[in-house]
Amino acid sequence: MDALSSQATVAGYRAVLLAAESQDRFFPMLTTAAGTIKPATVLVLGAGVAGLQAIATARRLGAVVTGYDVRAAVREQVESLGARFLNLGVKADAEGAGGYAKELGEEEQRRQQQAMAEAIGRFDVVITTAAVPGRRAPLLVTAAAVEGMKPGSVVVDLAAATGGNCELTEPGRTVDHGDVAIIGPLDLAAEMPEHASALYARNVQALLELLVSKEGQLELNWEDEILAGACITRDGEIVHEGAKQAAGTAAAG
Ligand code: NAD
Repeated sequence: MDALSSQATVAGYRAVLLAAESQDRFFPMLTTAAGTIKPATVLVLGAGVAGLQAIATARRLGAVVTGYDVRAAVREQVESLGARFLNLGVKADAEGAGGYAKELGEEEQRRQQQAMAEAIGRFDVVITTAAVPGRRAPLLVTAAAVEGMKPGSVVVDLAAATGGNCELTEPGRTVDHGDVAIIGPLDLAAEMPEHASALYARNVQALLELLVSKEGQLELNWEDEILAGACITRDGEIVHEGAKQAAGTAAAG
């Protein structure tokens, strides 16, 4: 039923293909009569739904993959996909409600960016997917970190629409910075419409099954947290917290 998750699965997969196509290098290790090619090194920042799919896809293409997230529980999921977990030496236990991440404090963010800048130069490809619901995307990859990457490296920033995880990201564009490409795609799921639509259709079907009885009558159970969370207005009142806040901000502005 979770449309965000189904579309994030598509985006995570597509992000890896985009990175692979944008590189002048192979992803897998190759041993040929003409010499041996080292596998690409891929770092995935944010290992939620999109990030885990990106890790699995990059592994299938033969890259050596490392993942990172602020939620401690994710380490095991990253490792179960055959990737390493990046140890930044920064506290990684920012799990909030519903399994989502909490925003880090200013000092933690600064330390995370600094440690990340030192680590990032070791990777050919960085795919960023970090998000905190309802907030600007956390800034993980500074311009200095990009400047430490090898020429020909690629950053794919899946958070481009919500501010970007990379300081240099421009939404919907590819920026070249010292021979490193920073790609800021806005709607990767739309680039794979058949399966993105099939998954979304199942999401909508599951939601309708929740709203309609077996006899085809509309049956709204307001105790159900999915229905309650999806409802914006009821009996002339705005009941959705996010919508209330947005309406308050618009009225104040
Ligand atoms: P998301 O898109 O909100 O975030 C992507 C990832 O970024 C998350 O794993 C998050 O921990 C990470 N992140 C945030 N700040 C970061 C930072 N500063 N540095 C590094 N990483 C950072 O999340 P998502 O992919 O939709 O799901 C995340 C989790 O929530 C998963 O465990 C998922 O199973 C769960 N989930 C819960 C529900 C629900 O309704 N309760 C629905 C979908 C997913």
